[in-house]
Amino acid sequence: MSSSPEAVFRADCGIDPGRAARLLERERAQFVARRPRSAALTAAAMERLLFGVPLHWMRDWGTPIALHVAEAAGARLVDVDGHVLVDFCLGDTGAMFGHTPAAVCRALAHQAARGMTAMLPGEDAAAVGRLLGERFGLARWQFSTTASDANRFVLRWLRAATGRSRILVFNGCYHGTVDDTFVDLIDGHPQQRASLLGQVQDLTAHTVVVEFNDLEALADALARCDIAAVLAEPAMTNVGMVLPDAEFWPQAQALIRASGAALVFDETHTLSCGPGGYGQAAGITPDALVLGKAIGGGFPCAVYGFSEEWAERVMRAKLAAAPGHSGIGTTLSGSLLAMAAIRATLEQLLLPAVFAPMIARAQDLAAGLRATIARQGLPWCVSVLGARSEFQFSAHPPRNGSAARAAQDDQLGHLIHLALLNRGVLITPFHNMMLVCPDTSAGDCTALCGAFAQVIDELLR
Ligand code: PMP
Repeated sequence: MSSSPEAVFRADCGIDPGRAARLLERERAQFVARRPRSAALTAAAMERLLFGVPLHWMRDWGTPIALHVAEAAGARLVDVDGHVLVDFCLGDTGAMFGHTPAAVCRALAHQAARGMTAMLPGEDAAAVGRLLGERFGLARWQFSTTASDANRFVLRWLRAATGRSRILVFNGCYHGTVDDTFVDLIDGHPQQRASLLGQVQDLTAHTVVVEFNDLEALADALARCDIAAVLAEPAMTNVGMVLPDAEFWPQAQALIRASGAALVFDETHTLSCGPGGYGQAAGITPDALVLGKAIGGGFPCAVYGFSEEWAERVMRAKLAAAPGHSGIGTTLSGSLLAMAAIRATLEQLLLPAVFAPMIARAQDLAAGLRATIARQGLPWCVSVLGARSEFQFSAHPPRNGSAARAAQDDQLGHLIHLALLNRGVLITPFHNMMLVCPDTSAGDCTALCGAFAQVIDELLR
């Protein structure tokens, strides 16, 4: 599928590129040889699906053929050829509470028999609003079908409320398919992301981009007081992990407030920090918050909330607008099924007792990976964010998007992922992220650390 055996490896990762290319070839051959059923399904899907997969990103795993899933439960995934895999990708966070969590399955089955979608609220709506308010400290909430939509809608509400057109994001960010955020900082200049397809507007006209952890650049960008919203992950997770400096958010929040902009935390991934996300763990309440993926235990849905002040402002904007399409919301948003899934997640999974062992296990996992890296003398590091951890091909944790991007080596990443997969462990394809769910056992972490040590050993031998 994606990577080719002739692929070029970065020379400064501490790995011999020739050896890596040979190992990649071997791992690819082994993967295919052991997966006749996945190969047959890939060939059949090639006839009718674009790129042979239901979502074209599914090609990004770096496997020569698409790994097809037979079933998944807890931290385990079984492929159609009968291989049992320990899953640390967990649907890139959608399954952060494990595959098919019992509480959500029960709630969905119960609700499905009573109506799936009616474009009307049911008995869960008020309860979910109350639970979200208690858990995340924001006053008023809305729902969408994906985190991408939630981010898009929040930006639209805030632009309407402030009458300002510009937004600010951090270099290397990803907030879903929200075109406005696809602006990078290349050699200090904003540039539309080259990979973005079919976008005909100049996105740099209304999107300002600065480096993460750069308070001076943030202050400069806010000085004109024309920014409606700063949309940020409180710790970056999509360009590789970038953690905030200790004083970054308190100071950034003060600057943002003073400029009249709203601070929006997209905690779709950083919910891994605990039941109230990064914000609650760090004592920072944003003006608006987005949560997706895991907030419905893997059921497609997302939520967003506003502080009382911003909720009043966005409601005033709607009441003052012409009647008709707002550009906000989609028909299945806040469906009966989605609300049931979110309620079950909030009541039974988003709890300190569920997170504590996940976070402890992620720390153990990181320690195990660091031990291999240190033993082999590799110039790599491991960052941790609650239940998620990530190894990066740089000696020190990157402090901003440019440094994180420079630390990436897609080919080396693909090779390690594929070699781990051949040894029974699945990690996230887009970067080197490993997520721990409530079902992940100490033995699962030992298995990953063992497979990682073996792969690195073979890479260096
Ligand atoms: N926000 C963040 C921080 C994300 O990482 C992602 C997806 N990786 C999204 C939003 C979008 O989520 P979805 O693809 O489910 O819309």
